[in-house]
Amino acid sequence: ATPAINHFIRTIIDNDLASGKHSAIQTRFPPEPNGYLHVGHAKSICLNFGLARDYNGLCNLRMDDTNPEKEEDEYVNAIREDVSWLGFDWAGEVRYASDYFQQLYDYAEELIQAGKAFVCELNAEEMRAHRGDFTTPGKNSPYRERSIEENLDLFRRMKAGEFPDGSKTLRLKIDMASPNLNLRDPVIYRIRRAHHHRTGDAWCIYPMYDYTHCISDAIEGITHSLCTLEFEAHRPLYDWVLDNISIGCHPQQIEFSRLELLSSVTSKRKLNQLVTEGLVSGWDDPRMPTISGMRRRGYSPEGIRLFAQRCGISKSENIIEFSVLEGAVREELEASSPRVMAVLNPIKVTLTNFEPGVTGSRSAPFHPHHPEFGEREVPLAREIWIERDDFAEDPPKGWQRLFPGGEVRLRYSYVIKCDEVIKDAAGNVVELKCSLDPDTLGQNPVGRKVKGVIHWVSAEHAVEAEVRLYDRLFTEDRPDAIRGEDGQYLDFKQFINADSLTVVTGYIEPVVNDLAPESRYQFERLGYFVTDRRDHVPGQKIVFNRTVTLKDSWAK
Ligand code: ATP
Ligand code: MG
Ligand code: MG
Repeated sequence: ATPAINHFIRTIIDNDLASGKHSAIQTRFPPEPNGYLHVGHAKSICLNFGLARDYNGLCNLRMDDTNPEKEEDEYVNAIREDVSWLGFDWAGEVRYASDYFQQLYDYAEELIQAGKAFVCELNAEEMRAHRGDFTTPGKNSPYRERSIEENLDLFRRMKAGEFPDGSKTLRLKIDMASPNLNLRDPVIYRIRRAHHHRTGDAWCIYPMYDYTHCISDAIEGITHSLCTLEFEAHRPLYDWVLDNISIGCHPQQIEFSRLELLSSVTSKRKLNQLVTEGLVSGWDDPRMPTISGMRRRGYSPEGIRLFAQRCGISKSENIIEFSVLEGAVREELEASSPRVMAVLNPIKVTLTNFEPGVTGSRSAPFHPHHPEFGEREVPLAREIWIERDDFAEDPPKGWQRLFPGGEVRLRYSYVIKCDEVIKDAAGNVVELKCSLDPDTLGQNPVGRKVKGVIHWVSAEHAVEAEVRLYDRLFTEDRPDAIRGEDGQYLDFKQFINADSLTVVTGYIEPVVNDLAPESRYQFERLGYFVTDRRDHVPGQKIVFNRTVTLKDSWAK
């Protein structure tokens, strides 16, 4: 496991444990099940579950499901799967804010009884007008001074379904002149006749996020409630609610900065648009910055966790280059992936002096530094594929690969010499006739140096595969922050990289024929690849996705 790196939240926890404020920590990861989790969520998952692991505490997985229209079981299932896949276990069962609807309702009655909440009949527009702004204090609602009895009666009738959607709200009675707009009598319940993915039609009133979140945290005995910086101004409301109800637990909310990944978008709402408009194949399209997309792309949980650690935890801006993500993924794959040879842009080579039964072949290790990965036979045949790029008819100076009359070593095999170049009628090179030096299998040629080594596969033995070459989804660093001439944000979807997916037919060593989906391999000199989680069928349809190239091809 990667060693923990210190940050300000760990310091707070260290102090709370040292002072005896807490004897153990309890965190939670609280996604709203309105989409698939993305790389930003991965940061939050690694933080919350990672702290629980490091401090021998617990972390809950809680679905923050108070918006019935947008939430679905499909998302709940995907969230569970993604968190597990990243390598984390939640404490006990998955929690749902909707499990607390009755308790939340009871606390709301308690607030009404204490004269701290009232039923308001202003519509959304009127409410906005009363709210004021940063420079102007708000105005009290005309409904603010109703009696406790009337508020209680109306609230119960809201729950009983006597009033139409949107006609009434329950609001806290805090301070319409507060400089913090979140404290200007915030709405905590609205009437909404919508089918909820878990509670069905049992409720027609639903609690708001700010009210639900702090109480859910307290019900679960959370010690440190970690959230992103945009909730900093909501903290006084978080604290106000818990200070004004009879609950014995008051978690500490601590904010850290959101991850922004460049050449990407980190917002479920925007990712949803890509899916619903058919611009990607789904939430788990390998180009998506979703956890399921990164998984399908071949990123490993370890690589993503290493990335999250490198992003760090602080309150300052957390804008990270895509190459940092790729670097962490590559670094982890380098040690964990076996290597094979594959040719993705083939040209045929005929070995004119190949003699079946006489010309030998060797076995080769799957990894130069990991003998425990084992070896496989690399079969040679009369016809082989090499990469088109490894031949130059007119070689530039210093060329170490194949050219007419030149020699090169076939990796794990013989040195060959290009004797003849065959072209089609249009002048394209279609085949190279080469001879092999029979004295060079596993030994240096006599009397000369051959520096170049190229990868290859036997045409007869190779497995034909569909290989999907993925690149960045967007051409711009911040596709969602580009303004047009009128100063308005342009639609981020116009910056999709048209070359973000190229499909080729590749030829790969026969050992890949029986691989299970999600097997990660390095193709020597080409990059890291994974058998597709959905479309790869062992022995029948071989489909590889390129996870990442060997070097950062985007380095400026
Ligand atoms: P989105 O705008 O993509 O829907 P969200 O913050 O609304 O994001 P939630 O489902 O509410 O999504 O998020 C669950 C948790 O993940 C929250 O604690 C949230 O702060 C955290 N989180 C979401 N996006 C990021 C991010 N980019 N970086 C770090 N943490 C994030
Ligand atoms: Mg949210
Ligand atoms: Mg959101």
